[in-house]
Amino acid sequence: MPYNLLFSNEPLIMTETANVHPHEIHKFGALAERWWDLQGDFKTLHDINPLRIQFIREFLDISKKKIVDVGCGGGILSEGLANLGSKVTGIDLSTELIDIADLHGLESGIKVDYKIISAEAFAKKNKAKFDYVTCMEMLEHVPDPSAIVAACAKMVKPGGYVFFSTLNRKPKAYLLAILGAEYLLNMLPKGTHDYKTFIKPSELTQWTRSADLEMRGMIGIEYNPLTRNFYLSKSVDVNYIAAYQRPK
Ligand code: SAH
Repeated sequence: MPYNLLFSNEPLIMTETANVHPHEIHKFGALAERWWDLQGDFKTLHDINPLRIQFIREFLDISKKKIVDVGCGGGILSEGLANLGSKVTGIDLSTELIDIADLHGLESGIKVDYKIISAEAFAKKNKAKFDYVTCMEMLEHVPDPSAIVAACAKMVKPGGYVFFSTLNRKPKAYLLAILGAEYLLNMLPKGTHDYKTFIKPSELTQWTRSADLEMRGMIGIEYNPLTRNFYLSKSVDVNYIAAYQRPK
């Protein structure tokens, strides 16, 4: 198999694809132990998780389905989905995060099958195997997000759904998601996001169209600093989540 070896500080990442920024994997991996601290560095992911699940459930029944969560991190969304009765596989390239996800599963008793593998390699082995694919807050961290979109489209069965969430490359997203969340409110670790990598809905639409996915819905996730709550919003100017269906 044509493996590329990607060297960074450490540990070594071995992957079939070069579609990974090793510094991104290490950035998240270094904070792995804090992943499940509800008030910690990843509080935002915990806070938006019920909204993501609410959006998915508006389209679908999440019981007894086969779901793969791509770029699952420590398993916040994976566990949420498995808890509703689906059989969930979580994939990520961070060994530290997959370890944390496994450990947390032992504590919570929620079963998820976690694997350290790239989206592209997993898609090659699992064509049209899943009812739903989720890929949240991950596309903005990879060199070629369109290849991740194509890989996710390969994994889903005809008629199945794929969900993506990411940040919009709009000045408002820079102000709120980077200046606001990272520097003023300390909601996210500084350096979590890089504005250049944010993705416009039009770009995501182009990639999903090329992957033969049809859009079924898109909604924004916004933050109210006064109430400190996140809510689903018509505005997709900052963070947004979208649903796509693979034609039957
Ligand atoms: N989807 C999770 C975690 C988001 S954080 C959630 O929303 O709760 C971004 C995740 O993407 C991290 O876990 C990071 O390790 C992962 N990631 C970044 N680049 C990746 C790649 N090329 N392949 C797989 N996972 C990647």
